[in-house]
Amino acid sequence: MKCSKCSSKAVFPGYCKEHYIEYFENKVKDTIEKYDLISKEDKCVIAVSGGKDSIAVMYLVNKFFGNVSALSIDEGIADYRASTLVDLKKFCTEHNIPLVIKSFKKEFGMHLDEMVKKTSFKPCHVCGVLRRYLLNKHSKDFDKIITGHNLDDESQAILVNLFRGNPELMARLGPSTGLRKMKQFTQRVKPLYFLTEKEVMAYVILMGWQVGFTECNYSGISYRSSVRDLLNEYEMNHVGTKANVVDHFISMLPSLKTKFASNGEPSLCKCGEPAKSEMCKTCELLLQIK
Ligand code: SF4
Ligand code: ZN
Repeated sequence: MKCSKCSSKAVFPGYCKEHYIEYFENKVKDTIEKYDLISKEDKCVIAVSGGKDSIAVMYLVNKFFGNVSALSIDEGIADYRASTLVDLKKFCTEHNIPLVIKSFKKEFGMHLDEMVKKTSFKPCHVCGVLRRYLLNKHSKDFDKIITGHNLDDESQAILVNLFRGNPELMARLGPSTGLRKMKQFTQRVKPLYFLTEKEVMAYVILMGWQVGFTECNYSGISYRSSVRDLLNEYEMNHVGTKANVVDHFISMLPSLKTKFASNGEPSLCKCGEPAKSEMCKTCELLLQIK
C-alpha cells in the first residue's frame, strides 16, 4: 500500500513514515490551538510516567514551545515503575529536560504496594487520588500541567463516569480539566486528546525511542479495565466507536461544565491543599490506610 501523500510505502494506514509523523504532530498542534490548551507565555510542567504517551507529549510540547520541565511520581509499584523511570531519565537527559521525581514513599511514608495491603480500596483508586494530589502540590510554580491522556483514556473515563452515574466527575473531563480556573488547582491539559493509543504507539516506534510498553500489575483489576476491554471489542467490530464517544461528549461538555460549576472557592485542608470539605480526599484516604 502506498502513502496517500507521496509514492513511498505506507507504514501506517494511509501514510509513509515521514507523512505519518507530520500527520501526528499536526493533529497535536491543531488540538492545542483549537482548545487553547497552551500559550507561548505559559510555564509548563509535563506529568510524565515514562510510558509512550507522556514521552510523546513531552517531546512535542518541548518542540513547539520549549522550556518545559518534567514531573514524575514514583508510586512504588514493583516490577513496573522502576523500569519506566530508567527510560524517562534517559530521555530527559538526552533532550535536556529537567526532571523532578516525587515518591509516595517519601511523601506519604509508604509505597503503593504497601498501601494496598492495608486497605480495601482498589489500587487504582488509591494511586489516582495520591498521584493527582502530588502533581497539584508540586506544580504550584507552573501555569499548566500537561498530561499524555489519549483518545482511548478519555473514552474510557467518559464511560466509567456514565456507567457509575457520576455526571459531575464527567464534567471535569475534556481537553482541559476542571470546571473553571482556580488558583489552588494548576490546570491540566491533554494535547493527545484526539489521538488513539495505537496512533501514539506508532509515533513512538517510528521516532525510534526506547519506551517500554509493559502494563502496571494493577491495571487488570480496575473497574476501568473492564470498560477498556468493552470499548476495544466495540472498536474492533464498529470502527470509530471511541472517537464517537469522545465527539459526542465534547458536544455536551459546555452545558455539563455550566451545570456543575460552583462559584465558591474550595476550602484549604490542614495539609495546605484544596478540599471540598474540611479535609482533602488524600488526607481522608491516608487516615484509612495508616
Ligand atoms: Fe496506578 Fe492503576 Fe495506573 Fe497502576 S494501573 S499506575 S495502580 S492508576
Ligand atoms: Zn489534605
